[in-house]
Amino acid sequence: MNHIDIITCQPELLDSPLNNSILKIAQEKKLVNIKIHNLRDFSDNKHKKVDDYAFGGGGGMVLKIEPIFNCIEFIKKHKKVDEIIYMSPDGEKLNQKTSNSLSLKENIVILCGHYKGIDERVRKHLITKEISIGDYVLTGGELPAAILIDSVIRLIPGVVSNESAALSDSFQDNLLGHANYTRPADFNGWKVPKILLSGNQKEIDEWRIKTSYKKTKKQRPDLLD
Ligand code: SAM
Repeated sequence: MNHIDIITCQPELLDSPLNNSILKIAQEKKLVNIKIHNLRDFSDNKHKKVDDYAFGGGGGMVLKIEPIFNCIEFIKKHKKVDEIIYMSPDGEKLNQKTSNSLSLKENIVILCGHYKGIDERVRKHLITKEISIGDYVLTGGELPAAILIDSVIRLIPGVVSNESAALSDSFQDNLLGHANYTRPADFNGWKVPKILLSGNQKEIDEWRIKTSYKKTKKQRPDLLD
């Protein structure tokens, strides 16, 4: 089973994304175990404070090193950790290749930043990988973590009912996904391509690859490089 430990000072933000749809089912089927650690539980401060002013001034609070260190030590006491990921806008941009590789790891820890970010010494001494979900800045790392986790979990065998469904999605094999149609075959004269109704699986597969390739060439030629 894959284990994912999330460290956050705002656990409520993860409630809905992790407890619905495929991610909920994956946990119920025990294909993945997700544990959320509230950073405040690891603070030595009597008010459970986890942030402080930035040295050097400037606006915005910074997440302190001690609770993060304590929490990571706690997790490490219980398992051998493969990767400690910090969600950060200046990290390596998330792509399908990274999600594929993380889906093969047994134990990953994801740290969500907040406010102005985290004490840089955490990044230097404790983090093994930094991931961004895109060139824009969000309030906290919880939504980025949920996006990363969703993209990883759906690749774990058994999570998506028809595995080939996940494997034929966009970016697998560096191609965008093929078009999909369902009933009715004719809606107000808008018809489904005839080949999909032919029952000839070999020709359907060829058509899907061909149209995927054409779409990729037009919309994302960089993927074919
Ligand atoms: N001061 C930081 C900077 O300039 O890069 C931004 C901090 S942001 C307001 C607070 C937290 O949200 C970050 O520590 C990170 O965990 C998360 N975050 C924001 N945007 C993100 C993105 N595009 N990808 C991943 N995490 C992000």
